[in-house]
Amino acid sequence: MTVIFLGPPGAGKGTQATDVVETRGLVHVATGNLFRALDFETDLGREVKAHMDGGGLVPDDVVLKMVDEHLRSDAVGDKTVLFDGFPRTVAQAQGLDRLLGELGRTLSGVVYFQIDDEVVVSRLSGRRTCAACGTPFHVDSKPPKVEGVCDTCGSTDLVQRDDDQPETVRKRLATYHEQTAPLIDYYESRGLLRRIDADGDIEAIGRQTLAIVDESLAARPS
Ligand code: AMP
Repeated sequence: MTVIFLGPPGAGKGTQATDVVETRGLVHVATGNLFRALDFETDLGREVKAHMDGGGLVPDDVVLKMVDEHLRSDAVGDKTVLFDGFPRTVAQAQGLDRLLGELGRTLSGVVYFQIDDEVVVSRLSGRRTCAACGTPFHVDSKPPKVEGVCDTCGSTDLVQRDDDQPETVRKRLATYHEQTAPLIDYYESRGLLRRIDADGDIEAIGRQTLAIVDESLAARPS
């Protein structure tokens, strides 16, 4: 089975995904994390980094190839997958539909994290990300349990992402509205979309997210 977390950058998808995969034993597939793990000295790495740093999207064919390879890998196997930050265009969603069909997977549900742009801009300025495993933190709303140490992997390399600088955040939001927001209708028209107000208490949002994921997985057994 497969679940998608959809929403603008800074909506809290990564934070909630980290908790859900841990509690429910799902495989977390965050395309942004896969890209950040690339070797930026290779041709592919350089191309991807240029798109990321500019606040635009990595081309669909590159994204789909990477997701295809990842889903067929032993790391995923037949486990339930939670996509975070993928798909981001209608072409990616159509490519994912084909891929899920080939792999005999069911799309159980799409959780849409709804939030205003101004909240995103202020949130991302305080975001810190573990350079080793990608776990997101926030200086005010979600600091690590031990200051400067990643709760997930113990790394002390908690950094501000280059693309969380205000100017790039505004470009990423424009990209989101133009290219990713059409996916709301794409999935809503198929009865798969569930909305969450992502501007509120992080733990309450977490409980709501978990309940929706559980319902989606129970409603659509593979
Ligand atoms: P994220 O960590 O999800 O915020 O992604 C960071 C950056 O990686 C984005 O701003 C894009 O440049 C790139 N990226 C991540 N996922 C995708 C995707 N599904 N399609 C295209 N570009 C992506």
